[in-house]
Amino acid sequence: MSKKRYPLRVARGAHGIRAQDLRTLARTVWWARRWIASLEAMRLGPRFGRGRQYAVAGQVTELVLEGPHVEATVVGSREAPYRLTLDFTTPDSAARERIAAAIAAEPMMLGRLLTDDLPTEIESLFRTEGIPLFPQAEPLVWSPTKSVYDVKMHCSCPDWARPCKHLVAVMLLLGEEIAQRPTTLLSLRGIEVEDLVLKIEDLRLKIKSSTPQSPILNPQSSIFNLQSSIFNLQSSISNLQSSISNHQSSILKRLGPIPFWRGTVRCVDSLARIYGRCQPVAADASAGKSIDLRG
Ligand SMILES: [Zn+2]
Repeated sequence: MSKKRYPLRVARGAHGIRAQDLRTLARTVWWARRWIASLEAMRLGPRFGRGRQYAVAGQVTELVLEGPHVEATVVGSREAPYRLTLDFTTPDSAARERIAAAIAAEPMMLGRLLTDDLPTEIESLFRTEGIPLFPQAEPLVWSPTKSVYDVKMHCSCPDWARPCKHLVAVMLLLGEEIAQRPTTLLSLRGIEVEDLVLKIEDLRLKIKSSTPQSPILNPQSSIFNLQSSIFNLQSSISNLQSSISNHQSSILKRLGPIPFWRGTVRCVDSLARIYGRCQPVAADASAGKSIDLRG
């Protein structure tokens, strides 16, 4: 499973990652509403409001997502910031494989995930394996001495209640990220969308290799096909330049928004402008023309 890290280190004090969208979060997409509803079901009382204040004030100064493991630093009432960890329960490897195979077998489902949509069927797939997609208020396993919850939460603050207001602030920021990029939900449960794409490619190759190839009956036909391929290749090269200009920021768009980006201008827009200026120079260079990099 690939892992992603989003280190976000900022100056100490209330200058961390400010929540931007909490008022509308619960009214946007269904998975954002479910995330907020999951938090509300935990009966947090005043801790919910305090956690929201922390999130809005930018008191979460570091947030690192590494698959199902989340680390955060939150500035609280004491001089030293609090250290937090959240560990989301994931399906075991066999169950993960079954979920991944089910998603990969449905190209439309994977396509929707890749366009930042979350089909409701995904939640059913996890539920079938006994793992909730959204955090649960009730324990997975109840015991009078040690119940097991689907998210193990830890904060170094003295508050005994879990989740404390610091953990709530982090959960709210995660909710903002999940609202924009629902594949983060899958990542928190141990399934990376990139692995799903590789799986579907494997599936495609297996089908292709199991399909018998038609034998070459006539060598002249083969030569004709080769000539045709060369012609098509030349045509493709001549179209390359217009293709570059049409898709100069497609890779940026495919990468999507940067997690927890808080700049006033979208980072992808700034980079797209720079790419736009570089594109004609790159096209000249690829065509063998001399280029002038001054200015
Ligand atoms: Zn705390």
